[in-house]
Amino acid sequence: MTRMDLDGKTVVVVGLAQTGIAVAKFCVKRGARVIVTDGKPADKLAEQIAQLAGVPVRFELGGHDLTTYLAAELIVMSPGVPSLPETRAAQAAGIPVIAEIELAYRFLHPGAQLLAITGTNGKSTTTALTGKLCEASGRPTFCGGNLGNMPMIDVVDHPANSADGLVVVEVAAFMLENCTSFRPRVGVLTNVTEDHLDRFGTMERYAEIKARIWEWQCPGDLAIANAADSWVMDRTSGLTSDLYTFDSRPGATTDRGAFVSSERKHIVLRMPGGEERFPVDDLVIVGNHNLENAMCAYLGARGIGLPADVVRAGARAYRPLPHRMELVGDKDNIYFYDDSKGTNVASVAASVRGFPRPLVLIAGGVDKGGTYQPMLEALDGVCKGIVLIGKAAPLIREAASAHHASYPVIDASDMHDAVRRATELCADGDAVVLSPACASYDMFQNFGHRGRVFREAVTAVGAKRLDE
Ligand code: ADP
Repeated sequence: MTRMDLDGKTVVVVGLAQTGIAVAKFCVKRGARVIVTDGKPADKLAEQIAQLAGVPVRFELGGHDLTTYLAAELIVMSPGVPSLPETRAAQAAGIPVIAEIELAYRFLHPGAQLLAITGTNGKSTTTALTGKLCEASGRPTFCGGNLGNMPMIDVVDHPANSADGLVVVEVAAFMLENCTSFRPRVGVLTNVTEDHLDRFGTMERYAEIKARIWEWQCPGDLAIANAADSWVMDRTSGLTSDLYTFDSRPGATTDRGAFVSSERKHIVLRMPGGEERFPVDDLVIVGNHNLENAMCAYLGARGIGLPADVVRAGARAYRPLPHRMELVGDKDNIYFYDDSKGTNVASVAASVRGFPRPLVLIAGGVDKGGTYQPMLEALDGVCKGIVLIGKAAPLIREAASAHHASYPVIDASDMHDAVRRATELCADGDAVVLSPACASYDMFQNFGHRGRVFREAVTAVGAKRLDE
């Protein structure tokens, strides 16, 4: 790893949101001259600008100025920002353009253990669970990245940036696009299914970017991969690090990695020290997909040498994150689940497959460019209706009709209307599930906002709230 000296350097920070603000402050503190740029005009960024009050940065907002980029000595990209003509020109001129996680990595203590998690789905759950296992060790632990409000750059001044520290980060594909040496001791790739094709174009390109989580690893590092996912496994040939696979399919086993015991009561790890079994009942999160997330977390934690009893204690202390199949309301025996984080087709399929009661799904928002078929197949047998919101409504209606769905598929004008209509379709014991399979930004600020509006609508139909 090449350490970076920012003193006296001219640094352009691209993207003025939470990560950009943290990076700008970080670079100023280390003596850099910082220019923050964003395509949005200043009046749309008042709140973010206020957060940099008193920090000596220069703003270039409402567009990007090529001369500024070409005069930079370092360009740091925020995760949400795509590659721009200006960044490509700077790269061509030999100016380093790096992701925020790459910058953070360059400032990591050589003794700190870095565990990085990426994949289409399960990133946040796996990251938060891994963080919990690490915390249970009593060692200083940082858990963040794409998760919560902790950009990875915040680790540099965190107690976990030390010889004994444990650093767990959720990594989005966008962040890996601009890495050049990011080497986690443990790199997890949970799965690769259709998502963000609007940005990456093809599945090949998307999978290639995701697999960069292993690109700079060395022998002795752990690459943790989903044995059942061919997009993932195709990327493991030629790995320099040590491959560990996980497999939740019934009957699966492996010599190096994790699987579920035949009676499905234990997670079985096979690592160089021998075989170990961890009771599934230690976990409150349910579903096959969460067993996969747990296998990743356990392999990572044991891989860096955390004791098995620490892993069990951490697993027992783990509580699910909000907006992931969270039971939030009950009205006369109709149950309301907030799965607003179901932002793509595979995540909805994972949530509803084998759901224990009949359900009415609320779906729609901004389409991601893939097929809805896996979601419709997972809904077969459990679904009593789909209520559609947002821009993707016609696409989902068309897909349901091509699938010959036997249940009603109806439109709603907004979330309140959707919850009312979905409730009307339910009988005693049924569920209303918000799991949209789409991005939220046509109607909401983000998935959290969408989940909160759903909860308000659940209250408005007279349900008792269970999350408060
Ligand atoms: P991410 O951070 O990758 O979006 P989360 O852990 O927040 O993942 O889970 C988001 C949704 O994805 C969950 O509500 C669930 O429906 C689904 N999901 C979680 N883990 C997995 C997995 N391992 N495989 C497939 N789907 C999953």
